[in-house]
Amino acid sequence: MNLSELEKLKEYSFQIGPIRPPSEGASHSLLIRTTCNCPWSLCKFCYGTFYNRERFQLRSLEEIKKDIDTAKTISQQIKVMAKRLGGLSGVGKLIEPSSLYNKDFKKLDQKELKNFQSVKNVFDWLRSGARSAFLQDANSLIMRTADLFEVVRYLKQTFPNLQRITSYARAKTLAQETKTLEELKKLHEAGLSRLHVGLETGDNELLKYVNKGVTSEEHVLAGRKAKEAGFELSEYWMPGLGGKTFSEQHALNTARVLNAINPDFVRSRRFVPRKATPLFEEWKEGEFHLLSPHEELREIGMMIENLDITGRVCFDHFMNPAYKVESGYVWLFKQDYDGYKFQEEKPTVIRLVEQGLDIDESLFIRAEALVKKSL
Ligand code: SF4
Repeated sequence: MNLSELEKLKEYSFQIGPIRPPSEGASHSLLIRTTCNCPWSLCKFCYGTFYNRERFQLRSLEEIKKDIDTAKTISQQIKVMAKRLGGLSGVGKLIEPSSLYNKDFKKLDQKELKNFQSVKNVFDWLRSGARSAFLQDANSLIMRTADLFEVVRYLKQTFPNLQRITSYARAKTLAQETKTLEELKKLHEAGLSRLHVGLETGDNELLKYVNKGVTSEEHVLAGRKAKEAGFELSEYWMPGLGGKTFSEQHALNTARVLNAINPDFVRSRRFVPRKATPLFEEWKEGEFHLLSPHEELREIGMMIENLDITGRVCFDHFMNPAYKVESGYVWLFKQDYDGYKFQEEKPTVIRLVEQGLDIDESLFIRAEALVKKSL
């Protein structure tokens, strides 16, 4: 092995933001950062903490294109190495902090970490077939449409084999009159194929309480617009977000709004208080009361009973309901990214909720026990 090739890989880095949806992690999507952080950062349960509450920033087209070019250079370099080493698996053994820097991951400095994350992201993406890219951070749709169009076009031009380009989008942005249906259609035609939207709840009182900055009417408008423009749409809801006070109206109105949108995917993200957020403080002060596991299951059951969509319902997150057995923990619902096809598998989900309610509540992992993991 010519070590100069490995040394060369150490020269290339591009920006990678802190998070992406779990389904994009499973697809090993190429991560392209179009904006930095969250332009809202005021939802009581999140407060932009996933982005360390750092200030929102647009990035210039020039910077974004440079990152795409760097990802291309890294991919070419990896392919050259793969030829020499008889395949990508041979390269994989070298894409490790110990081979690249002769150091443990925890000992990498900032520059090395950025380089390692860039090279690893491109390598994992290549190994999984190089089919999918995710635009970071919290709301790429806030960019000028012409700029976002150019990013998507350039990404497709650079990597013609990409089959899917996805992004988070705030419903507020999608619902705005200035983001016209025609513009959204153009973005979709250019190659932006899937949007991930945080619905959280369809209940107006709860939306206001958690300071989501969006009404249920805007959620419906945004979701319908996204669907009409041709996007594949994932909507995320948060069981337990309303605590004991809002549980019933949270379940019923979330189903109502989702029925009005009929998204392709409904993804469940259980509410767990997250440190340094206002809702965490309210919970600590005893002003917010978390649901017990059975109360939460009843809430999920009520939402599902009232859900008339034709998409898929997924529980693809480790915080969703799980209970203890002798050998460890078992998730009540399957964890895969395609979940259950509705309406066909709605009875299955309802049956699982009933089964969960027959299991001793003390065996379930309580939201309180997950607080440390959500930090
Ligand atoms: S819009 Fe999303 S990222 Fe921003 S604060 Fe709300 S939940 Fe967090």
